Amino acid sequence: MGMWIGDLRRRGECQDWQKQKLEGQCLANRMTMAICIKCGEEKWGGFAPCRACGHRPVEVDELAHSLYLTTHHQRRDELLKAGRRIKEGTFTVDANIIAPFIAEIERDPAWLEKIRHPERFRPGVVWRVLPWLLGVGLVALAVSGIWRLIRDW
Ligand SMILES: [Zn+2]
Repeated sequence: MGMWIGDLRRRGECQDWQKQKLEGQCLANRMTMAICIKCGEEKWGGFAPCRACGHRPVEVDELAHSLYLTTHHQRRDELLKAGRRIKEGTFTVDANIIAPFIAEIERDPAWLEKIRHPERFRPGVVWRVLPWLLGVGLVALAVSGIWRLIRDW
């Protein structure tokens, strides 16, 4: 049970049935197949925004259901069945089944914060540009150094 979030952090190794069917796609995505808890469409990664309806789970309850509806915890045909039920509006999960997922999520508030506010944890513009500036600076330095050598030859 303690493995759940850890598994997701590693962005989901493909399971065997996925390997056979979707190896290319799965490896490219490094994500788990999941079902959107709002519209029932398939998506990649339980916590990723849904491409069909744009919903991204942020509340503990939503995250718990999203976690439950991934190939980490359900077979693919079960997920598709759940998706159909969500579309029909008849999908329910026993609270007892969801409870351990909720407990697991609440056990790690730092992780929850990260999932809720990914933008806060993304490196800022400065940190993204700085390596480039340093790179360009070094190249300029090298070029000017070589130039001086050639000139003074
Ligand atoms: Zn959706």
